[in-house]
Amino acid sequence: MKTKIINENEKNVVEEAVKCITQNELVAIPTETVYGLGGNGLSDEACKKIFEAKNRPSDNPLILHISEIYELYRLVEEVPEKVRKALEYYWPGPLTIILKKSDIIPKTVTCGGDTVAIRMPKKEITRNIIRESKVPIAAPSANLSGRPSPTTAIDVYEDMKDKIPLIVDGGACNVGIESTVLDCTCEPNLILRPGFYSKEDLEIYFGSVEYDKSILKEGEIPKSPGQKYKHYAPKGFMEVILGNRYKVRDFFTEKAVELKGEKVALVTFEDNSDLADSFYKFYSLGNRDNLLQMASLIFRILRQCDDENITHIICEGVEEKNLGIGIMNRLKKSCGGNVKII
Ligand code: AMP
Ligand code: MG
Repeated sequence: MKTKIINENEKNVVEEAVKCITQNELVAIPTETVYGLGGNGLSDEACKKIFEAKNRPSDNPLILHISEIYELYRLVEEVPEKVRKALEYYWPGPLTIILKKSDIIPKTVTCGGDTVAIRMPKKEITRNIIRESKVPIAAPSANLSGRPSPTTAIDVYEDMKDKIPLIVDGGACNVGIESTVLDCTCEPNLILRPGFYSKEDLEIYFGSVEYDKSILKEGEIPKSPGQKYKHYAPKGFMEVILGNRYKVRDFFTEKAVELKGEKVALVTFEDNSDLADSFYKFYSLGNRDNLLQMASLIFRILRQCDDENITHIICEGVEEKNLGIGIMNRLKKSCGGNVKII
């Protein structure tokens, strides 16, 4: 099947995408977090195609995307009053909530479980597609399982070429890491996957919120199936370096000598850009005080490293605080836990 990329500003985008969804075909859709691989979330057939196209493990459930808050009510058993009020603040936005599912949701979405993950994305074009499709759209990240998530239409094309009929190009995703997943079936509510919204952000409207133990501690079994897999891995060896910025810089300088002549990429903040000439490739994470910018760049940089056949990636990490928790969660998975604290 030939894959067509269509710009979000072209005529008939919504119509073409809706046609695919209605026929149980897949469409890649832009969101503010990463690109999603969308299919009719009430169709077993469409959801099976999502798992096949991504080569997604069969026990990793999908997130359903809706266009308005009221669409949530037919998808879940009950919406607690606190959650209802909180959603008016966080939606549309990079927050996914978990609630007890209603009977209309196919087993393929939840992998047989009795809870369902739901999110209302911000991107207008995508919400229009969902609205006009008249069904929730199941959409995991539009990458092959295990690869870095796609944050541009070209990233999606690399992984999904000839596997899906349509990619809607909505430009680069501005958040750049996936949504925060919040389990609202227990008290206190539990963050199963850290993301743009931190515990502190969510506590404003959800009251007391905790991180699932596995997020801050090695060796704990995660409550969310998706968190147990090695993820986002680039092809080359990758190490993440964490610590005082001057010590970290010294480490980079030593590595430049040790690994001279090899295809090494240094991924660090702009203030180290004078080290660029000492490495095969240099990728800037922007200003070290701007974690939002860093989050939006990480996956794109890891994919560029693959395109450049980089064999060794040295990446500077950040303190695990607020958005830094979500960023480090992705980096730790990308490097398979290979974090060096200096
Ligand atoms: P993705 O859409 O690929 O970014 O992944 C969706 C994430 O949400 C994965 O980590 C899933 O394991 C998680 N998820 C989806 N549904 C549920 C659920 N019902 N309970 C717990 N985690 C879920
Ligand atoms: Mg994913």
